[in-house]
Amino acid sequence: MQGKINFNAGPAALPPEVLHDAAKAIRKYKNTGLSILELPHRGKEFLEILEESKSLVKKLCNLNDDFEVLWLHGGGRLQFCMVPMNFIGKDPAGYIESGYWAADAIGYARQYGDVQVLASAKDSNYDRLPDWPAKLPKHLSYIHITTNNTIFGTQWHDIPDTTLPLIADMSSDIFSHKLDYNKFSLFYAAAQKNLGTAGVALACIRKDFLAKASGNMPGMLSYKEQVKENSILNTANVFGIYVSLLMLRWIKEKGISTIEKENKKKAQMIYDALDKSSIFTPHVKVKEHRSQMNICFTAKKAQDEKAFLALCESHDITGIQGHRSVGGFRASVYNAVSLEAVEQLVHLMKVYETKNS
Ligand code: PMP
Repeated sequence: MQGKINFNAGPAALPPEVLHDAAKAIRKYKNTGLSILELPHRGKEFLEILEESKSLVKKLCNLNDDFEVLWLHGGGRLQFCMVPMNFIGKDPAGYIESGYWAADAIGYARQYGDVQVLASAKDSNYDRLPDWPAKLPKHLSYIHITTNNTIFGTQWHDIPDTTLPLIADMSSDIFSHKLDYNKFSLFYAAAQKNLGTAGVALACIRKDFLAKASGNMPGMLSYKEQVKENSILNTANVFGIYVSLLMLRWIKEKGISTIEKENKKKAQMIYDALDKSSIFTPHVKVKEHRSQMNICFTAKKAQDEKAFLALCESHDITGIQGHRSVGGFRASVYNAVSLEAVEQLVHLMKVYETKNS
């Protein structure tokens, strides 16, 4: 155990059981006589890890064989590249600009083709979700949304229906609540929040959508090639994917309904404290748009910011500083952050409030 209460946004807290099993596998992987760090990526053991992880993803997302499951390198941002490289065709791509990462994905996509921003919350500094466009263009290669906005703390709790191919960046809320994953033609997630360690990305693609992908790019960047090569076109991130498998087992064991219930409770405790506070204020005022994963807030007076951060550090609470682009605070309460951890943070907020208001 690390001994600190970890609210980092990613790399983020991992369950103690997962850390324990990962450490054990580093010493010796099953009866191979090797560390997981030494296992060949085309060997039997790793192929079993790949198969189990893909099958668990399908089970947890309720996907049938219409989907391909891939483990890729390069985290979230490589998906920002691969999506437009593979799928912007003759029609433009539509993007919903709901936060920092959504805007970043737009910047990457513009390097490959025509992009239309269908809705944006930039003018209000992303303190709410943008309105879903009342009327969508008839022809788009796809619509890209970010289901949870890690830096500003908004989240799409209901995914709007569309007949156009829908692509989602789910890096910061995958497996955090019940969701109809079958709505998407492609969804992806960087692993370092709810799904393991940095560098790995999960991508799930509907086969009929994959058929439309361009093949005109280096194999490493092509979804079709990666599917053909079973995610081991080059040396896979054996350890990273193994940690994701441990996370998937942990999620399955706990159950998404239980995880969702706990996540609601954790977020509610912090938002309730913020809504009642005379010192802190939540970034997102529209309650229905608030994220259950990243809770962003500021101190009304600058001096409280430094002082509260210092108080947290002195109580071994780490990672609640806001993103460098926005400042303030952010408590990331991913699946592995316990209710007790949240109780301690809320308790400290109340202690600070009593002393300083
Ligand atoms: N998308 C979202 C929603 C994110 O939160 C992040 C990183 N925090 C990224 C993409 C980028 O991921 P990476 O750093 O792995 O490229």
